[in-house]
Amino acid sequence: MTQTRFSTLNLPAAQIENLTSIGYEQMTPIQQLSLPVVLAGQDLIAQAKTGSGKTAAFGIGLLTTLKPRLFAAQALVLCPTRELATQVAKELRRLARYLENIKIVTLCGGTPIGPQIGSLEHGAHIVVGTPGRIKDHLRKGTLTLDRVSCLVLDEADRMLDMGFAEDIGVIIDSTPSSRQTLLFSATYPQDIEQLSAHYQRDPQRVTAAEQH
Ligand code: ADP
Ligand code: MG
Repeated sequence: MTQTRFSTLNLPAAQIENLTSIGYEQMTPIQQLSLPVVLAGQDLIAQAKTGSGKTAAFGIGLLTTLKPRLFAAQALVLCPTRELATQVAKELRRLARYLENIKIVTLCGGTPIGPQIGSLEHGAHIVVGTPGRIKDHLRKGTLTLDRVSCLVLDEADRMLDMGFAEDIGVIIDSTPSSRQTLLFSATYPQDIEQLSAHYQRDPQRVTAAEQH
């Protein structure tokens, strides 16, 4: 695949500058395949191995749709583990540096819920977390998802392997059906197809070939 620069996409000039400042000039293959679909607002199933740049493949797109003045969760990223959620939030913060006052909150288990509730009190634009803890917040009423316009299932294969299918269903049912749903996975087992059939609308499918 020939390399393509981020500047060929219809992104805000301030984001192109930000990407250049963090050393991102050429898109990785999965970013090249995914970003036009994400920016067009379509649902997506994207498959690519670990380390191929999947976070920016959805992150750069979802940031373009955020309304900074709306203090409600507009994007939700579900991840299988606390470590992965923390990495995703860190990368999203770098990608969001061209925007002012975008709040990104991480909600994972294994850490006290009190401070998380505090961090949600004044609203957050992006929520990144693991399904169990997100479900806990929904049950407590400390998180509402009725303004989510973009939902990302990151490492969807691992979340299903870890038994999160039911929690994911509860969470997705709390989001508007008009949302965009992006599914990222390193592998493509049969249960991903079922998850997609339940929760996605006419998804585009892209796969980044292994580099040899
Ligand atoms: P994945 O989710 O596919 O495992 P990540 O999103 O974690 O991959 O990205 C892997 C690494 O590649 C990170 O260190 C990230 O900063 C870097 N990276 C991603 N996209 C680019 C790019 N276009 N140019 C340079 N580095 C990139
Ligand atoms: Mg990843």
